[in-house]
Amino acid sequence: MSTIPSSEAIVAALSALVGPQACLSSDAELKPFVTDYRGLYVGQAAAVVLPGSTEQVSQVMAWCYEHGVAVVPQGGNTSLMGGAVPEPNGQAVVINLRRMNRVLDVDTVNDTLTLQAGVTLNAARTAAEEAERLFPLRIGSEGTCQIGGNISTNAGGTAVLRYGNMRDLVLGVEAVLPDGRIYSGLRGLRKDNTGYDLKQLFVGSEGTLGIVTAAVLKLMPLPRASSVALAAVPDPAAAVGLLGEAKKAAGQTVTAFELISGPALELVLEYLGNVKSPLEGGHAWMVLIELTSGGSSESLDQSMMQILEAGLESGLVLDAALAQSVADAQAFWRIREEISDAQTRTGGSIKCDVSVPLSRIAGFIEEASDAVRALEPQARMIVYGHMGDGNVHFNPLRPKDRAAKEFLAANYEQVSHAVDSLAHAAGGSISAEHGIGVAKRDDLTRFKSEVELELMWQVKKALDPKNLLNPCKVLPFSKG
Ligand SMILES: Cc1cc2nc3c(=O)[nH]c(=O)nc-3n(C[C@H](O)[C@H](O)[C@H](O)COP(=O)(O)OP(=O)(O)OC[C@H]3O[C@@H](n4cnc5c(N)ncnc54)[C@H](O)[C@@H]3O)c2cc1C
Repeated sequence: MSTIPSSEAIVAALSALVGPQACLSSDAELKPFVTDYRGLYVGQAAAVVLPGSTEQVSQVMAWCYEHGVAVVPQGGNTSLMGGAVPEPNGQAVVINLRRMNRVLDVDTVNDTLTLQAGVTLNAARTAAEEAERLFPLRIGSEGTCQIGGNISTNAGGTAVLRYGNMRDLVLGVEAVLPDGRIYSGLRGLRKDNTGYDLKQLFVGSEGTLGIVTAAVLKLMPLPRASSVALAAVPDPAAAVGLLGEAKKAAGQTVTAFELISGPALELVLEYLGNVKSPLEGGHAWMVLIELTSGGSSESLDQSMMQILEAGLESGLVLDAALAQSVADAQAFWRIREEISDAQTRTGGSIKCDVSVPLSRIAGFIEEASDAVRALEPQARMIVYGHMGDGNVHFNPLRPKDRAAKEFLAANYEQVSHAVDSLAHAAGGSISAEHGIGVAKRDDLTRFKSEVELELMWQVKKALDPKNLLNPCKVLPFSKG
């Protein structure tokens, strides 16, 4: 068996391929690339490579494959699952795509955007807007996360209800395979039934099957108008009822429907400091509703008012505030979008990103809340997220007077197991949009069937027989 080269040999070989400036190796340079967004996972690497082209990615991958060196693909490193950093012991090579950040083509006839994988989501949205089009993926990390990362995690976010998740928005992919070969599927076709849809292998596989280097994305008409409201609702069942009414009244224009629990609101307002809730008094549950269209804001506001007034009459809504300006709408959205960072700053939250069919979501939230309270009566129930997609971030948080470390040590396993089991029992998923990474890897054996795990390993082995690309992520060891 050949031995793996030393870190020095790895750095020398890769520097020769990409240039010394693009091959980082000092501890200080490596630190931000081997530490995950939340600072929970810190890995070790021989080098971080910043390739400037698909050919360079291919050459680096081919060298690593030949020499048995593990490779970890990385985009903006905003993964919440520890998926983008290497294992704690070892000498993997991190390939970060940040230098491959060019928009290659905006085709306003075909309504497609072709770009390199290192373009940030924000830059992709801006490129679309400059061409009077919409690229509809919208997530809290959009200034940092990259299109390659969005594809590899099949990112979701706040507009999935209307436009679908990343999988629905990708038409073509170019990817470098573990052995360095290039898969060129950079086609902008909405119809292509020529056998297996290979690009889908790279969507949602979290960098375990190939490194995405470029993509063709779908563009949509740019909405001209929007209407945003916050509504207090008595409980999640009322929120589901209100969503049904909104769809009936406003159809396709319903773009976002987000749930926010009272404790989540309290936490984010505390974190933001000088921001007040647009609704007076304390409420156990709120929803943020957004309608968008190519028509007029007046007509959208009218639809929104109809939805809210009918809700007030039927008891589905307790109180509501309609954004009167763009600034109001941004302020409403800020409350929703900062919940994630408010938790990260507070520390000590048990993150469960689950989805269940909408018809069972209210029951799930009630059962999961009861289960958590039975284990930890004082836990703050930070429950929020993309209710329109049946997706809630169910994240019990430490009581104010408990240290994060102690709370997590005492509760992490039991709480996440209880919540995941209830989601699974309700026909749901233990990871709606954040992926598996390392954080949920070992839980898969409990929630995926033998056949599913077997097939996942077979696909992995077909593309990466040496198990060198993002090893120890997604797939539980026991099925290796
Ligand atoms: C504040 C905040 C809010 C968030 N909100 C949402 C949300 O609403 N919805 C949602 O879905 N996610 C959300 N996320 C999670 C995260 O931003 C997404 O998963 C995002 O898609 C990751 O992109 P990235 O470029 O940062 O990827 P990274 O974190 O760098 O990597 C994620 C995974 O993809 C792999 N990968 C990255 N780039 C490539 C590539 N070019 N080729 C192959 N594999 C690659 C990595 O190996 C890793 O497994 C949020 C995160 C934060 C911090």
